[in-house]
Amino acid sequence: MTDAFWMSQAVCSDADPDLFYPPTDGRQSELQIRAARRICRDCPVRRPCFEEAFALPVVMDYGIRAGTTARERRAMRRRLQAQQAA
Ligand code: SF4
Repeated sequence: MTDAFWMSQAVCSDADPDLFYPPTDGRQSELQIRAARRICRDCPVRRPCFEEAFALPVVMDYGIRAGTTARERRAMRRRLQAQQAA
């Protein structure tokens, strides 16, 4: 499966892109994250979407991807690194 293939299946391609780039905090951020997660929940390409985001360098990783925030993915990376170091 190429990137172009899975991206063509992305449910968010029909959504407002701004929804996936919420403000860093506050009520508006919570509302946008919740709405984006609802869209991602039933997306058929959630897995490759997550894998691509998770593999990005931290400085290039932002926005909602596969129902996760960049902050959540950073925390996941830290947990994985800690497990690998143990
Ligand atoms: S999982 Fe979410 S962000 Fe990823 S392609 Fe699907 S709808 Fe878009």
